[in-house]
Amino acid sequence: MEWQNSAAPRRKSRQINVGGVKIGGDAPISVQSMTSTDTLDEEATLGQIRALSDAGADIVRVSVPSLEAAQSFGRICKSSPVPLVADIHFDYRIAIACAQNGASALRINPGNIGSAERIEAVCQAARDYGLPIRVGVNSGSLDKDLLEKYKDPTPEAMVEAAMRAAEVLEEHDFSDYAFSVKASELNLCVASYELLARKTDAPLHLGITEAGGLRGGTVLSSIGISWLLREGIGDTIRVSLAADPVEEVKVGWAILKSMHLRTRGVDVVACPTCARRGIDVVSTVRELEDRLADITAPLKLAVMGCVVNGPGEALRADLAVCGGKNGRCLIYEDGELQGKIAVEDVLEVLEKRVREKITRINSNIIKIQGNK
Ligand code: SF4
Repeated sequence: MEWQNSAAPRRKSRQINVGGVKIGGDAPISVQSMTSTDTLDEEATLGQIRALSDAGADIVRVSVPSLEAAQSFGRICKSSPVPLVADIHFDYRIAIACAQNGASALRINPGNIGSAERIEAVCQAARDYGLPIRVGVNSGSLDKDLLEKYKDPTPEAMVEAAMRAAEVLEEHDFSDYAFSVKASELNLCVASYELLARKTDAPLHLGITEAGGLRGGTVLSSIGISWLLREGIGDTIRVSLAADPVEEVKVGWAILKSMHLRTRGVDVVACPTCARRGIDVVSTVRELEDRLADITAPLKLAVMGCVVNGPGEALRADLAVCGGKNGRCLIYEDGELQGKIAVEDVLEVLEKRVREKITRINSNIIKIQGNK
């Protein structure tokens, strides 16, 4: 459908490779998150990385605040199911240690990593181990001279900080980098990315930094990230929430799925319910989302309270249930009415049908591949 692709064409960016996950060019827009555990607690950190991977994170960033943490980071890298980016502030020696210890990329903030010589040293370590670098500019830690020049963190100041860091990397013939220019102020953040997108073909990592808690951060991140993606800007995203980072991954995927940029897992369409409902939509949706969280194949499920809008949504869903009369619900598959079931059987029947459908889709894919 034409309207599904009505966003601006994607900006042409060069490509980097983060431990096998490509970012930029024609690579799918990847979803990133970051651990919130103490990196020295290797078991907890690895547990969170696995949870993030299960939720769909393509790449996970780990903060490495000390040389001791760089040793833990190295051991974590060995067991991680996804590529890890080492996040380093202040001490360039930690970046070098992480490069040696198995990082798939380095993230530095040029505003606090120090002199050009130190950035150069990090650059050399990245080159030695074939790692890309993300230059992460943040409105809260701009160079003093830029703040003096621009008075405030402005898009121009943010972009100048990014380009300044890039110049240092380029002087060392190092072009394997991506940028982020994050701010917690939405308009500043979006304007900074828009300006930067016109100045470079490096891949862009999108995020609204320090966006807030689950609700506020989700709203702010969704507006900012989708605004830019709709302009064709952005190659990888990180939703930043003061919440369980697994939520960041879920929100990241919800953004990409809503914009028809990627597909993953079961999408549930549900009505807000009203007095007409013949099924408790809210609890049914909550329970189904939990039961079906392990599914990665894309599938659309509609849970509708009654026949006012239910049959219409069922037409556009792989499976649908619609509240009816006398404790009965209508069940649909591929838009076709299959029959009626009791309300109390809805969860069991829908879960079973979803899993059967996924199995059929997967076996058809295997058959098609076998016939090639
Ligand atoms: S589909 Fe029915 S129950 Fe749901 S909001 Fe609309 S009228 Fe109400």
